[in-house]
Amino acid sequence: APAIVALIGRPNVGKSTLFNRITRSRKAIVDPTPGVTRDRHYERVLWKDRPFILVDTGGIDDNPNDEMVTTIRGQALAAIDEADVILFLMDGKQGLLPADFEVIELLRRVSKKVLYVINKIDGPEQEQELLAPFYELGVEPLWVVSAEHKYGFPTLMDGLVDAL
Ligand code: GDP
Ligand code: MG
Repeated sequence: APAIVALIGRPNVGKSTLFNRITRSRKAIVDPTPGVTRDRHYERVLWKDRPFILVDTGGIDDNPNDEMVTTIRGQALAAIDEADVILFLMDGKQGLLPADFEVIELLRRVSKKVLYVINKIDGPEQEQELLAPFYELGVEPLWVVSAEHKYGFPTLMDGLVDAL
């Protein structure tokens, strides 16, 4: 069976946008309001002849009104459990929030492969400035991408299939 790759991260970091980018479909609902992915989405993906199943997480439990650390933690745990490889998304424009640290703590204790992805880096000119706070996480490498504008996308995909 193909490996399962799960997109995790707090609401609004761009999981569904990246899901749509990777699957080249518009199945996941993208909305500027945090928390509008309405259910879990699974789709088969083929990148350079390497198949995997991509899962978009976050959904009806997402609460746009607060940070919902407990919910995000629960969703992340469920996704981590079923996944072979995890794409952990953070928001390069917003920076790090408490919920990010919470999930990172979980991931440090998990023996699965994790790609730490900084989304919303829309071009090289933004990279230097926006990335600075993320170096303090002490995780390497940091994958830099713009799900919306495709910056860094092929590199991320190559890294992902290498981790399968
Ligand atoms: P999710 O809650 O993690 O699934 O996030 P969404 O995919 O729904 O995206 C939340 C918001 O971030 C939407 O307004 C997207 O248009 C925006 N967004 C997603 N990816 C990018 C990106 O690469 N660059 C920028 N500038 N905005 C993005
Ligand atoms: Mg979503």
